[in-house]
Amino acid sequence: MVQIGLSSDMKTCNICKVTLVVNENWNLSFQRKNYYICKECRKKYSKNYRDNNKNKLKEKYTIYYKENTDNILEYQKNYYEKNKELKKQYSIDYYKKYKNSIKNKNKTYREMNKERIIKQKNKWRLNNLCIKRSSNARYRAYKGKASIGNYKKEINNIYKKCRELEKMTNIKYHVDHIIPLNGKTVCGLHVPWNLQIIKAEDNLKKGNKITKNYNIVVTSE
Ligand SMILES: [Zn+2]
Repeated sequence: MVQIGLSSDMKTCNICKVTLVVNENWNLSFQRKNYYICKECRKKYSKNYRDNNKNKLKEKYTIYYKENTDNILEYQKNYYEKNKELKKQYSIDYYKKYKNSIKNKNKTYREMNKERIIKQKNKWRLNNLCIKRSSNARYRAYKGKASIGNYKKEINNIYKKCRELEKMTNIKYHVDHIIPLNGKTVCGLHVPWNLQIIKAEDNLKKGNKITKNYNIVVTSE
């Protein structure tokens, strides 16, 4: 479409036919030789596309996420750090503004979904038992001055493996300190290389002794 009588920074959207000044109202990625789409129409188009291609996009994103996990996490972390204060302030303001309606909404939801919430809580507890165990152990180690370095992630993984093993076998396993934290002659540390996964019954027999005679199922790599 040739625009006659319009100044060069005025364009007409080819979809809704609205004439606007070319500024932030225009999505320039959609500008091709005399073909323009305004921001609003672009939004509608995108939403439509997303709605019609949900599964395809999901698949695409899953692959993208797998291939770029580190970058994405790094980006998210940076973004979070950069906008921490802003976000905090925003949620405080938002809460203040909508306090009553938020409270009412939550209350209604809780009342309407009592059983569901209990179920969810139980499921969460079960799924996160390993994290809970790990954080308990971390706390004990901290109190016993047995923690050094930052191995939270690695140690959590060991507890996670232990829990997975329990789920798979229906047998109780413990994450055990190879050299006990409060041994008689020597005190071990709460670090990945001093952890092993053994059967709970073996662990109870072992007590505070240093021994490697038990079946070690998994040790830290
Ligand atoms: Zn338009």
